[in-house]
Amino acid sequence: MTTTSGTFDVARIREDFPLLKQTVNGKPLVYLDNAATSQKPQSMIDALVRYYTTENSNVHRGVHTLSQLATDDYEAARTKVRKFINAAEDHELIYVRGTTEGINLVAQTFGRQNIGQGDEIIISTMEHHSNIVPWQILCEEKGAQLKVVPINDSGELLIDEYEKLLSPRTKLVSIVHQSNALGTINPMEAIIEMAHSRGVPVLVDGAQSIPHMTIDVQKMGCDFFVFSGHKLFGPTGIGILYGKAEYLNAMPPYQAGGEMIRSVSFEKTTYNVLPHKFEAGTPNIAGAIGLGAAIDYLNDLGMERINTYEKELLDYGTDCLSRIEGLKIIGTAKEKGGILSFVLGDIHPHDIGTILDTQGIAIRTGHHCAQPVMQRFGIPATARASLAFYNTKAEIDSLVEGIDRVLEVFS
Ligand SMILES: *Cc1c(COP(=O)(O)O)cnc(C)c1O
Repeated sequence: MTTTSGTFDVARIREDFPLLKQTVNGKPLVYLDNAATSQKPQSMIDALVRYYTTENSNVHRGVHTLSQLATDDYEAARTKVRKFINAAEDHELIYVRGTTEGINLVAQTFGRQNIGQGDEIIISTMEHHSNIVPWQILCEEKGAQLKVVPINDSGELLIDEYEKLLSPRTKLVSIVHQSNALGTINPMEAIIEMAHSRGVPVLVDGAQSIPHMTIDVQKMGCDFFVFSGHKLFGPTGIGILYGKAEYLNAMPPYQAGGEMIRSVSFEKTTYNVLPHKFEAGTPNIAGAIGLGAAIDYLNDLGMERINTYEKELLDYGTDCLSRIEGLKIIGTAKEKGGILSFVLGDIHPHDIGTILDTQGIAIRTGHHCAQPVMQRFGIPATARASLAFYNTKAEIDSLVEGIDRVLEVFS
């Protein structure tokens, strides 16, 4: 393959991802399901193997050498995350299982502490279920209300409507940075500014944005930012909740057990300091170290270069798909990341996905854990191709050929 883009040598980069070398159903794999989970660079896989092979031990508990090595690497990964998102302090980063757990943690601690009868939480129409359901459960428990920012036909938030929803009863705004179903990139700085001018904190669901752009939580101004390691070329089962220390310090613990305590007696237990207060039990040590290795890999490539390349790829893909008769792209926001969600005449997306799979092409079909988005567009499901920096224009061409095959089958 001779796909090069300036100094961004995709053919070389693909060499770092062993899984991409496979064939599926006798065809070279074309992996276009990156919004569901991303593939892993060899250096990340090696970090996991190295940890289990040479230093496996529990963290923060032992004076022995291996335990100290494991603790050092686990904490070094936290520092890598801090630098990667430009947080102010290491202890503002809490290791969690992923985006879902990060949001649930905030709902169950900050939420239960600060949201009461008649209060309001603002989310948007384009949220992932994991940024809807935890708030619904909280609202039900507390007698609070969920307010939903509507979107236009391109899949962009209606910012005027958002501003109208902000009221003296608003206690939290929780909005996705980049939509997994539509690709829309929301103007977080403006959204946060409007909330902050009324004293309302903002949680940002960064699951889809962080793999594709430079994130600076201090510049963005968010109070909480959550993401999953597995979508960031790291392992499953690890993710990050970033919170400003002033909030995290004031929040009660989430889960209780070892590590999160300072002292325990049957009369009274006192809690540990950040970040340990929120990390009860033995954590996903290997996962954290793997996440750190994924971040090292991304820093070597450079997030700005990744972003530039992916924009080029998205433009190319949008152009190619738009030429296919009967194909309609769902999600045409001006500010958009590498998501190509589409419907094709009245062919069911599952049939599209199944036929593409026979061609070795992996896409996602369904509602993408965002059923309200589907309802907004009056469709049950879409087919979704989602891009990463290791994808190529040649793979988009394969997708187009695959869709042509689908059309032949159904003609
Ligand atoms: C994937 C995703 C989530 C949930 O992430 P998990 O890793 O499944 O916890 C939440 N929000 C968005 C926008 C996502 O894409």
